[in-house]
Amino acid sequence: MLGQMQSQPLLISSLIEFAERHHGDGQIVSRRVEGDIHRYTYRDLARRSRQLANALDGLGLAFSDRVATLAWNGYRHMEAYFGVSGSGRVLHTLNPRLHPEQIAWIVNHAEDQVLCFDLTFLPLVQAVQGKCPTVRKWVALCDADRLPQDSGIPGLASYEEWIGGASDQYAWPQFDENTASSMCYTSGTTGHPKAALYSHRSTVLHAYAAALPDVMCLSARDSVLPVVPMFHVNAWGIPYSAALTGCKLVFPGPALDGKSLYELMEAEHVTYAAGVPTVWQMLLGYLKPAGLKFSTLKRTVIGGSACPPAMIASFQDDFGVEVLHAWGMTEMSPLGTLCTLKNQQLDLPPEEQMKIRQKQGRAIYGVDMKIVDGQGREMPWDGKTFGDLLVRGPWIVDSYYKGENPLVHDAQGRGWFPTGDVATIDADGFMQITDRSKDVIKSGGEWISSIDIENIAMAHPAVAMAACVGMPHPKWDERPVVAVVRKPGAELTREELLAFYEGKTAKWQIPDDVVFVDAIPLGATGKMLKTRLREQLAGYRLPGL
Ligand code: ADP
Repeated sequence: MLGQMQSQPLLISSLIEFAERHHGDGQIVSRRVEGDIHRYTYRDLARRSRQLANALDGLGLAFSDRVATLAWNGYRHMEAYFGVSGSGRVLHTLNPRLHPEQIAWIVNHAEDQVLCFDLTFLPLVQAVQGKCPTVRKWVALCDADRLPQDSGIPGLASYEEWIGGASDQYAWPQFDENTASSMCYTSGTTGHPKAALYSHRSTVLHAYAAALPDVMCLSARDSVLPVVPMFHVNAWGIPYSAALTGCKLVFPGPALDGKSLYELMEAEHVTYAAGVPTVWQMLLGYLKPAGLKFSTLKRTVIGGSACPPAMIASFQDDFGVEVLHAWGMTEMSPLGTLCTLKNQQLDLPPEEQMKIRQKQGRAIYGVDMKIVDGQGREMPWDGKTFGDLLVRGPWIVDSYYKGENPLVHDAQGRGWFPTGDVATIDADGFMQITDRSKDVIKSGGEWISSIDIENIAMAHPAVAMAACVGMPHPKWDERPVVAVVRKPGAELTREELLAFYEGKTAKWQIPDDVVFVDAIPLGATGKMLKTRLREQLAGYRLPGL
């Protein structure tokens, strides 16, 4: 017997319709590429998304055709989120930090038909446009009078002129909720990038889940600043959850330095922000010497790479801001776990609570996770035993766009996505990443967490950044070496840093060496590129060998 409730597809257009009807005057504030501050409301967003949908229809784009963006976080990008997906096309957010060759490869692989870009990326577009034969419309996200002359880009249109001529009346089409809505290519440290192809259903379910109190806890009372880029896994789904909750949205545009972020947060009374650790490092680096404090910020979600405990403590103790440590992947839309304490943990002493807060957190309903050994046997949730982390759920990839199906199957035939992360899970269900499988350091048959080694170095006042890699050793197989960037003007010797490790970790886990470098190579999403670092250290020999 089937239930007798109404069956309605979960479509992204329903989010914008809801936002317009129930939060029509909710504010969306954007710092534009031009430098000024733009303000409008969800009502304006909905109207202009419909104009964009009409403009796309006018081009004769078919259902599921791809529309790409190369853009910062801002209102026009948000219009693409709803106008493109809502009208049945697929939004393809491109990562402008990639090399032009990679961008061209990705555009061709996705067969993008339209490419909308912020003027910042004009040189990038000029570099790739001759190599992207599928793109038939290039759109600069600007007013007509700002359209660059003699850009060399055939038929380049201004976004405002293009959608300005389109009607703002549009009936969002109804279709199967499993229809593709957007796509994001993973950075790909090796081989070609791979795309996660999200659906309307996966996106709406993820938006619901993300808004839950123990997840991102978004509400109409919040003023939310997503620093995490809209070109990377849909800014962790915040634009969709924002439409669902009606929170005020504050977009930072291209200005991601500490001063600009701080001033925007204060001016727009931001209560909630989200971003990767490197961004917050810059923000704290600006605030601390100047003795500044936040007047409204209450919570910040930090994820994308491990949040150093020193950062969690600093936000909490120096600024009274709660850090929500999050873990996820492009292949997971991206949210998998979030670290919020349970009721019975609220009475624990602060040091005990801090130990929990450093973990990546508890699975969100909708994400099933487990850790397994090399033979696929499930490992115990004791907070000590390491295993490969596998996940399954309705917003996790089944297969890559035009690519392979990465799932591994259990005895019941259920498919699990192997995350490539190595983790422990404790009895309360708190997961802690100890390494990526390719980054694990194995010394004498024992695992050493490169993250632990980095976190200790990061807690040293003279260290700006630290990356730990395993180096080949004839006896131990591998030994850890930590590459360190010193803070400007700070003094630190190899011996001082090694002494700093004493008592903070097991003796055998203390790195064998410290290598001072000018910079740690970062990938397109701001993450440390260990593969590149290993290449840079190619001629390196461990001391005494
Ligand atoms: P995102 O950067 O949005 O999390 P990516 O797909 O680029 O997505 O990277 C996912 C990988 O990043 C994870 O598999 C994991 O190795 C790492 N990662 C993400 N969040 C964390 C975290 N909080 N702690 C440690 N590693 C993390």
